[in-house]
Amino acid sequence: MAYPMDLLLRTFGALCSPAGAGARLSILIYHRVLPAVDPLTPDVVDAARFESQMRLLSCLFNLLPLSEAVSRLNSGTLPARAACVTFDDGYADNAEVAFPILKKHGIPATFFIATGYLNGGIMFNDKVIETVRRISSEEMEFPGIGVFRLSDMQSKRDVIRQLLTFLKYRSVSERQDFMNRIIDSEKIALPNDLMMRSDQVRMLAGEGMGIGGHTINHPILSGLDLESAREEIAGGRTALEEMTGSPVRTFAYPNGIPGRDYRVEHARLVAEMGFEAAVTTAKGVARQGSDVFQLPRFTPWDIPISRFSIRLAGNLLQSKILTA
Ligand SMILES: [Zn+2]
Repeated sequence: MAYPMDLLLRTFGALCSPAGAGARLSILIYHRVLPAVDPLTPDVVDAARFESQMRLLSCLFNLLPLSEAVSRLNSGTLPARAACVTFDDGYADNAEVAFPILKKHGIPATFFIATGYLNGGIMFNDKVIETVRRISSEEMEFPGIGVFRLSDMQSKRDVIRQLLTFLKYRSVSERQDFMNRIIDSEKIALPNDLMMRSDQVRMLAGEGMGIGGHTINHPILSGLDLESAREEIAGGRTALEEMTGSPVRTFAYPNGIPGRDYRVEHARLVAEMGFEAAVTTAKGVARQGSDVFQLPRFTPWDIPISRFSIRLAGNLLQSKILTA
């Protein structure tokens, strides 16, 4: 911790994020942490990059479990430069790759888990990525999108982007049918070990990590009626509580963009259901008086370490300007 740049950032961070009633809470969001860089998804953070980010973060910030941070945010007793680390979805690499790094650096984290994919399931984005990875044809027609080359990594990356854009807001059955036709025609066997098993969720909980709800099937809540949204949220919570034997008090909205992926009535629903806090994917930092059922988060996993601290500082500075 003797690097001048780190000292500068710490001082800057303390100015923008003091202790007490004027405190700011930065919440980081991760998804996968791969053992090594994957050329098909080069922006996804790998173990080495994650470790550099965690080392830097633990030097610059006071890292707290999310539930403690939220209660201290409410009571105006947060430390200066307060931050939390969170993971969405429940990837097995969170337990296998990220957790040992978190443990080594003494960093608490919260894992928001969509329970319907545990024990062998695959989420839709991964179905697309893993299908395209395994297509052996050099060229293929995707109905409604066009004919694409698949002969090298760059063209496979382009196809993944096009498919995800084309399918993102279609109905669940429409997009599953679309992908299943490709999977059947190419005779593709998808992996069944991308998401955690129940015993990995239990291990994280037993190690003192936070476990939060993220629904069962990861639907876009704004596309459901309110009763179905309640069933998704309650069902995910019950499954996690049965798995870990501990109450689940925090929640993350699937996709998480306010007004698009969930609405105010969903935030009200989560509060009524007895959760203590919920996190979104809106950018920014929280401060005393922020809606604890719509806490913003910061996405650092797609950038190299050189820009990581600058973006962390920029996130704090932006909130200082906006809220000054
Ligand atoms: Zn998610």
